[in-house]
Amino acid sequence: MKCRSAVVYEHGGSVVVEDLNLASPKDGEVLIRMGASGICQSDWSVVKGTIRYDLPIVLGHEGAGIVEAVGQGVTYVKPGDHAILSFVTYCGLCRMCQSGRVVLCEGVLANNGHLLDNTCRFTNRSGQPIPQMARIGTMSNYAVVSENSLIKISSDYSLQKAALVGCGVTTGIGAVTNTAQVQSGESVAVIGVGGVGLNVIQGARIAGAERIFAIDLVQKKLDYAQQFGATDSINASYTQPREIMAELTDGKGVDYAFEVIGQPETIHLAYQVTRPGGMTVVIGIAETSADIQIPAQDLVRSEKRLVGSFYGSANLRLDMQRILDWYDQGKIKLSELITQTYSLDQVNQAFDDLNAGKNIRGMILYD
Ligand code: ZN
Ligand code: ZN
Repeated sequence: MKCRSAVVYEHGGSVVVEDLNLASPKDGEVLIRMGASGICQSDWSVVKGTIRYDLPIVLGHEGAGIVEAVGQGVTYVKPGDHAILSFVTYCGLCRMCQSGRVVLCEGVLANNGHLLDNTCRFTNRSGQPIPQMARIGTMSNYAVVSENSLIKISSDYSLQKAALVGCGVTTGIGAVTNTAQVQSGESVAVIGVGGVGLNVIQGARIAGAERIFAIDLVQKKLDYAQQFGATDSINASYTQPREIMAELTDGKGVDYAFEVIGQPETIHLAYQVTRPGGMTVVIGIAETSADIQIPAQDLVRSEKRLVGSFYGSANLRLDMQRILDWYDQGKIKLSELITQTYSLDQVNQAFDDLNAGKNIRGMILYD
């Protein structure tokens, strides 16, 4: 069949929106009609080449859609089911999957966005096979994905809200509830309060954190942060956040500091504002070559813990449903995260707006 997809042919160039051929789902695969795809910083990182794929590749890793058809042997979903697409495809069988740490699956090896049998379902006009970012490629009105890339959900949720849960919401909330396991009454700092950082704030609120400090360079984002539950905001464009944090915490620092930017300087700042015995959680994805320096003696004497958090350390099918339950109970906001919608053909405009910091989340909607 024909489909319309956003494809990266050249690092740093414009994204090409074109008609591709899409083959039928094979064993264990599912044809999805996409409803919505978020525009995330990580998509731009693929365009730039800081998240590395061999090109060309179909973009997009945050989406939700409706099952149109299933291949042989698919048992988890049937046509008509609604599903969130996961940017991690997991085997369900390895030691990590069995212990619930599916985002660290050891059974599915990286293969540049090819499906699990190492082939592609998309081809372009010249017959060139095109793999999919994160094996899903949500910036396409149709995609064929493994059933192990899907989280089935009720059709009560709009697909744009569901798409948000596919990346930013789960990454942010999971970092608090799974990775850090923040407890009621504790204090949290969030460095970088964009689409993911706001969800760290939502997670901290659910956990009952008493004080939630938002730190960013952009005042508009700090204003959003307060709407999402931050108790204090610090604009680092004209203040020294380290000193202010010391002042506001009686020189002690916070129990948990989350870094949501992916830069060595801000990771270092997060470590500095963490109190002795506290935890620094790094969520932001830095460039492949970036290193961080941490004072080695202080690490020991302060017993600070420095940990990474990928995809909210989520046990995806359980945790995404839990997040939707929290939404049903009015504990978290979802629609407020979407500040602009686009058609697929406007994808380059959407990236311009992303880079200008215009949106919390831009969202591509399909007919
Ligand atoms: Zn993302
Ligand atoms: Zn596994």
